[in-house]
Amino acid sequence: MGDVFDFDEDDLVSNFKKKVAMDSSSVNDHPEPQEPDDGEGVKFFKKYESNSVVSVGPIGKRLGTSYKVEIDEFYEAESRSNSAAGVDNVHKLPRMIYSSLHKTKPKIQDFEQLKVLGKGSYGKVLLVKHKQSGKLYAQKQLQKASMIVNAKNYEQTLTERTILQKVTHPNIVKLYYALQDFDKVYLFLEYLDGGELFHYLREERILSEKVACYYVAELILALRHLHTNAGVIYRDLKPENCMLNDCGHLVLTDFGLSKASRECNSMFGTAEYMAPEVIRAEGYDSQCDWWSLGAVTFDMLTGTPPFTGNNHKKIMDKILRQKVKYPFYLSLDAKDLLRRLLNKNPIKRLNCDTDFEKVKAHRFFRYIDWNDIITQNDEKLPPPIIPIITDPEEAENFDEEFTSMAITPPSSPIGDSLFETIEESRSTSTSSFIPIQRPDPDNRNDLKKSVYFTGFSYTNESLL
Ligand code: AMP
Repeated sequence: MGDVFDFDEDDLVSNFKKKVAMDSSSVNDHPEPQEPDDGEGVKFFKKYESNSVVSVGPIGKRLGTSYKVEIDEFYEAESRSNSAAGVDNVHKLPRMIYSSLHKTKPKIQDFEQLKVLGKGSYGKVLLVKHKQSGKLYAQKQLQKASMIVNAKNYEQTLTERTILQKVTHPNIVKLYYALQDFDKVYLFLEYLDGGELFHYLREERILSEKVACYYVAELILALRHLHTNAGVIYRDLKPENCMLNDCGHLVLTDFGLSKASRECNSMFGTAEYMAPEVIRAEGYDSQCDWWSLGAVTFDMLTGTPPFTGNNHKKIMDKILRQKVKYPFYLSLDAKDLLRRLLNKNPIKRLNCDTDFEKVKAHRFFRYIDWNDIITQNDEKLPPPIIPIITDPEEAENFDEEFTSMAITPPSSPIGDSLFETIEESRSTSTSSFIPIQRPDPDNRNDLKKSVYFTGFSYTNESLL
């Protein structure tokens, strides 16, 4: 059996403080580290041999002869020490990194799971409440087992977490935390208690142009922000990913398929909203999102996407070959905007990034003042649908099929599990994971196996 690690943070932090105090007098060429405020945010380990502690240090993994110290995952430092624990060099970390170690990070058990909100392609989305603050979040969870079997699942979750980490926009869902426990990884997202926009569309069947143009404008702002400020192609614009917050503003969710990439072999999502160049897999750019915007707008105004069929192949064939048929009741302005967006040639298609001024001036948007949309001036231009929310914890704007589902309690988090054995490290293209094992306390030979995804956990401090 390999080294066994135990995370008893209080004990270890106090040992570490003692060690720093003892050693700091002999280190003159590095600033003395700041005394931690609260000792939180740093994970330490004890190394056991025959049940006695032989060394103490931050959690890390061995990489050849160097020892990579991973502290709270997003503050990493390399210790060149060959010592088993690498503790000797830890106090030499630059002051900035050292003081950053003490940012707080919640644990899975800090949240109470209230309801199931929905189900995505890879896992459930739950409504959870932070026990101490009472703040509600949408918790997207994915089984690690499915990610190991299919690496793509993990890549998508990591993509979503990485993109949301760098994007801040009122019409794009906020990511608060990314956490993991023994069995699952979790994204803690802004809770959009208005539910899906298309939940309202289903009720209304179609939206008037006056109502639709409000949401189309908000979508344009979100997509423009992704393209021009984050260099991200959204790639998965469809009705299910357009949600409303409590004020009624449209917020874009689900960034698992987003990428700043020219790869185009994925046929995920709903075929109905895919641009022709995506179907052809011939290399594409952010123009594909403007086609999808056209398809979603068409859906809002007519009740169905421009091309339908009873299987994906038929729908895709139509997208590639057929002309869009515009119902007679659409106004000339709506038809003109749709024709520009639903142009099969991406080069000739309206580009709402570069042609933003032209788009703003289009008559389809005559009902709105773009400044009011940009600044979310709800007094002057209130959102067309204000969701009815009597109690946010009741998730009343979500399908009962989901909200009545039973909830499985979370497993114990890695940071709190008693024993972990790190045996080897392996790399995937964007991240690495360390095999870990959790012993059954009643049967030491019966080890449950899982992996620990390095570089996944995240706390959005700007939102705290
Ligand atoms: P996804 O895995 O992103 O496709 O989400 C599956 C379902 O969960 C969606 O269709 C929504 O109903 C719900 N959902 C996703 N994200 C949120 C969120 N931030 N707030 C509330 N519900 C959400």
